Amino acid sequence: MAPSSAATDSDTTYLEGVVTSSTGSWYDVQVGDRTVPSRMRGKFRLTEQDVTNPIAVGDRVTIRLAEEDQTGFITEIHDRINKLSRRAAGPRAGQEHVLVANVDRVWCVQSVHLPALNPRFLDRLLVAASARDIPAGIIINKIDLATEANKPEVMDFHLRYADLGYPVLATSATEGRGLDRLGNAFEDQINAITGPSGAGKSTLLNALEPDLDLRTSSVSTKTQKGTHTTTHAELYPLSNGGYVVDTPGVREFGIHNVHPKDLAYYFHDLSPYVNDCQFPDCTHDHEPGCAVKKAVERGDIHPERYESYLNILESLQDEQDPSR
Ligand code: GDP
Ligand code: ZN
Repeated sequence: MAPSSAATDSDTTYLEGVVTSSTGSWYDVQVGDRTVPSRMRGKFRLTEQDVTNPIAVGDRVTIRLAEEDQTGFITEIHDRINKLSRRAAGPRAGQEHVLVANVDRVWCVQSVHLPALNPRFLDRLLVAASARDIPAGIIINKIDLATEANKPEVMDFHLRYADLGYPVLATSATEGRGLDRLGNAFEDQINAITGPSGAGKSTLLNALEPDLDLRTSSVSTKTQKGTHTTTHAELYPLSNGGYVVDTPGVREFGIHNVHPKDLAYYFHDLSPYVNDCQFPDCTHDHEPGCAVKKAVERGDIHPERYESYLNILESLQDEQDPSR
């Protein structure tokens, strides 16, 4: 993350920071280790009509200090590298609601037991992240629950995704294992955390950063004037300079923007084969001369990954044509 910088012209001070929360018309902007409650200048409100929130958490902004340097005015929103968003409901239905911008990595927390490892869920998330240009990572939590019986499955799962090039971290939130490596992986970047309920997301984050009480929001006194809206995500600053965004729902990671014919490109293990199929429009499902299926048969593609592919393909095809 770029260090925050200050520039002064005559008696005006400009600072760069990251938006960590938004409530009503106030935004908390983190500048170094300081939080500056800031408002947006009127002109931004009128641009981008199809977006409910022109500034989202994760946005990098320039602010001009006001009110004896206690608050700020947002004068510039820097270009985003990516974003997680959903379609707004209610009176603004159809408009885009940006949940978090500039995500450096989305981490999927899986657990060894209760709930069990879920490659189907994970593969959906990996496709969704890839389709949004967001790098992904995997946390295998509750490794203290690994037994002789489930160890081979856990190892296979770990290796499968590590071989695909994803960072895979094994942790036990309750026994404090793997937390140093997790902290290092989170350093100086914006991390989104997702995963099935009960996998240990809040326990992990609280173990990583004991001061971070995930149930209480860290809005500054100034912004408490506004009503706190839970539809807005919040970025929690970590002591090592990184941020975590509290559990965006699985809905934000939907794959509705993926066309069935593009799906194989988002499976990094399938994509090298797609150009070798006999038919250029091969869906890698039932067609003869399919190079992907041959790679599965040879053992070059993990059968569970191929099963995930077929599973997602079917749901995308159903979405496109429910009568099929
Ligand atoms: P979340 O829904 O993903 O936020 O999951 P929670 O953090 O609420 O954890 C769900 C349950 O799993 C709680 O009872 C935790 O104490 C337990 N838990 C979390 N991490 C671990 C772990 O590493 N090992 C074990 N054995 N239990 C854990
Ligand atoms: Zn094919």
